[in-house]
Amino acid sequence: MSAGDCIFCRIVAGEIPARKVFEDAVCMAFLDVAPLAPGHCLVVPKGHFGSFDQMPADIAGAMLSRLPMLGKAVQSATGSTGFNVLLNNGKVAGQEVMHVHVHVIPRKEGDGLGYRWHPQSLDDATADSLRSRIADGLDG
Ligand code: AMP
Repeated sequence: MSAGDCIFCRIVAGEIPARKVFEDAVCMAFLDVAPLAPGHCLVVPKGHFGSFDQMPADIAGAMLSRLPMLGKAVQSATGSTGFNVLLNNGKVAGQEVMHVHVHVIPRKEGDGLGYRWHPQSLDDATADSLRSRIADGLDG
């Protein structure tokens, strides 16, 4: 997908309306059009990156550094007492818009949203092998 076809690039460019709550040189935050809870925001990098693992560390870091500030404002505006930070990376993980975005979803006691997945167990040999393959694959 080219950046010109990307809905979040078009929001960043001001070509499509969005309820913007924050913007700096690196990222923009706006209300999700189909919120899981009132105040659900998305934070997107201004540049087009299809997936989080393609992002340069400095841009990812600058974008993520805004989350405490945004989460605090979302909580205060909605009267929520917590929030989920969610990044669906890749279609298999539920990513529907192929421009990196971080969900900030305000939470209240009894809101019924849920969040629990089902933990699995891992035998020691598999865990050891995975640990070393992941560690060896880090490229800084
Ligand atoms: P994901 O499944 O992680 O890719 O989430 C995509 C999110 O983008 C969904 O929560 C959508 O409701 C949201 N979304 C899609 N189009 C827009 C739009 N034009 N403005 C605001 N949010 C949008």
